[in-house]
Amino acid sequence: MVDDSRPLCRHCGAPLTLSLVDLGVSAVSNSYVPLDKAAAPEPKFPLSAAVCETCWLVQLGHDVPADEIFTGDYAYFSSFSESWLAHSRAFAIDMIARLGLGPQSFVIEIASNDGYLLKNFVEKGIPVLGIEPSGSVAAAAEKIGVPTRVEFFGKTLARELRAEGLAPDLVCSANVLAHVPKIDDFVAGVAEILTGDAVYTVEFPHLLRMIEEVQFDTIYHEHYSYLSLLAVEKIFAAHGLRVFDVEELTTHGGSLRVFACLAGAGHREGARVAKVRADEAAARLDRPEGYAGFAERVEAVRDGLLRFLRQARAEGKTVVAYGAAAKGNTLLNYCGIGPDLVSFCVDRNPAKQNTLLPGSHIPVHAVEKLRDRAPDFVLILPWNLKAEVIRQLADLRDGGTRFVTAVPSITVTA
Ligand SMILES: [Zn+2]
Repeated sequence: MVDDSRPLCRHCGAPLTLSLVDLGVSAVSNSYVPLDKAAAPEPKFPLSAAVCETCWLVQLGHDVPADEIFTGDYAYFSSFSESWLAHSRAFAIDMIARLGLGPQSFVIEIASNDGYLLKNFVEKGIPVLGIEPSGSVAAAAEKIGVPTRVEFFGKTLARELRAEGLAPDLVCSANVLAHVPKIDDFVAGVAEILTGDAVYTVEFPHLLRMIEEVQFDTIYHEHYSYLSLLAVEKIFAAHGLRVFDVEELTTHGGSLRVFACLAGAGHREGARVAKVRADEAAARLDRPEGYAGFAERVEAVRDGLLRFLRQARAEGKTVVAYGAAAKGNTLLNYCGIGPDLVSFCVDRNPAKQNTLLPGSHIPVHAVEKLRDRAPDFVLILPWNLKAEVIRQLADLRDGGTRFVTAVPSITVTA
């Protein structure tokens, strides 16, 4: 075990003294194990979340060295999720109307993946630029007509783009702010690239939902920060940005979409900002009490899932998992679940098939494997996609297969 303690807050530098939850020692979530490496030792690292009592940024208690995080080979393509595509399309249509975007405008997306969002602007004749560090997904974006730069975003790249004369009217990003180790460099880059009344939108899973609904499986090594509006407003303010609107979304178990601009821009603050601030204050996210008791509720989720799986095994029932997602690996590894309790996992991403899940070593197969012999139960690991998964597997449901989710407590859908 490597102890790579990170005792200081990644934003404000204060010592991290308050633990949210300790999930033990775990393999890195996206390090799927090739079958011929099954016997090789697997690096494992401490996995925990801590709270900064100065700026209230919730963050990983330990950072894994960057070279231990392998994501390139198993790149996630946003277009694999139908509900995410619909969500993104609705956002694009809304922003085009709200900001009056047209052929004279310019839109940048940071972490633009396979162009799933920007293609909606391209269809309306609006110039775009995607920024995406993964070459394989960026190539897919280029193929559908979304110009993409294969780079990490931060202050350095923002200065380059600005020097090239790029002045976007809208900069958007979804599910990247929480995944950047240097959150301040990222936000400084956003501030650098905004001019006038340009708008920055950012979506992230809402810490308030994570705490209230015991979504501890969203904690994994590549997910550095767990964000509240409270912490985001402090970090943005440190870089000359202010939040002027916020939407509460149902994606990822409950997310926020924050609208920000330069401190001196003309956007008036909407009433929804005060509402979310008040919700977070009511949940005492600005005091240690708001974080107390989470660890005990996590243990209760683990106990409930193990009880269900052991009973299923005792009754001779088969349980398989759906979705080799990062959050599933946190759940399985924290609970100590292996192939003895969950026979195999299926996933639509061909890059993950014919591998073993990190840590638990549960084999990953194509979804079609479910139809060889229908299981009694399918444990849906990405519970946020439950409705979509059940729809995709309607034929199994008709044949008697039941669907199970573990968070915030065991639920079996008949
Ligand atoms: Zn801090």
